[in-house]
Amino acid sequence: MRPTWRHLVVLAHVLVWGCASSRGVPRSATASANDGASTLGEAEHVDPCPNAQVAVRVLGSGGPIVDDARASTGYLLIVEGRPRLLIDAGAGIALRLGQLGVSPERLDAVLVSHVHVDHTADLISLLKSASFSERRAPLPVLGPSGDTRFPAIAAFVHAQIGEGGAWSYLGGFLGEGEPFALDLRELDVRGAARTTSIDELRIEAVGVPHGPVPALGFVVHAAGRRVAFGGDQRLDDPRFLELARDADLLIAHHAVPETHAGVAARLHARPSQIGAFAARAGVRRLVLSHHMRRSLERWTEGEAALRAQYSGPLELAEDLDCFAVE
Ligand SMILES: [Zn+2]
Repeated sequence: MRPTWRHLVVLAHVLVWGCASSRGVPRSATASANDGASTLGEAEHVDPCPNAQVAVRVLGSGGPIVDDARASTGYLLIVEGRPRLLIDAGAGIALRLGQLGVSPERLDAVLVSHVHVDHTADLISLLKSASFSERRAPLPVLGPSGDTRFPAIAAFVHAQIGEGGAWSYLGGFLGEGEPFALDLRELDVRGAARTTSIDELRIEAVGVPHGPVPALGFVVHAAGRRVAFGGDQRLDDPRFLELARDADLLIAHHAVPETHAGVAARLHARPSQIGAFAARAGVRRLVLSHHMRRSLERWTEGEAALRAQYSGPLELAEDLDCFAVE
């Protein structure tokens, strides 16, 4: 059979993503089987999710600096083959969704851990993309409360697409729900955990310590599994420890090296602190993401510090990795 342009496209995808997924440490989590998330033909066969009831696709494994060839933060929770929740929407994750053939209008909800740029920059891009679809159902967007320095999730979105916002031409999402309405749900970062149900999914959210930034950590219950998304934080608040206890998977952010002395160490957990948290919480599997060059360059030291605390399964995420939750 003579090769056609479609064969060449498939070959190019395999070469590009085969190379991309071989960067960094070996992983056991990229397996066979279709996650059902793709609708754009060839892309779905390139890097499929494991054949699991629940899986997490890493859309962006990087932080705010563009020197790491990673998208900023974003994760897709896939349940029984369907992409259900987007957790954070940093720069580059709109492109990653497109590469996977996942249309943003298919999401059941978006969870925003905090409004830092590397967690929200693509949120409006996804809405704009979805505005070309047939979706009419409201889209829940869950995010943190605000304070004098940082807007709450509703104010944050209004500042962009509401009256007087730079993109007020997209204000229909807030007003008459045209093409569909955003259901902006502000979750107080103070006090006890909040529980939100989206169909059969149960989402627990609680405030987490990320310096002066109002921030949330999430634990999602889906198909009998529990996935903890720590977000950016120091991992030293007992409320999130309780929420994440015995989670099947914890995604923790690896933003600082073990001996970092700068201000970022007051915003993020060091590897030893991540390990200590994972051990105390008894999480069954640990994935590090939100890498930064400074943390990856010192990973040998970081891994030793983390391993001194936690001996369970540990992997480093790359963009487009998929982790089964078992
Ligand atoms: Zn961040």
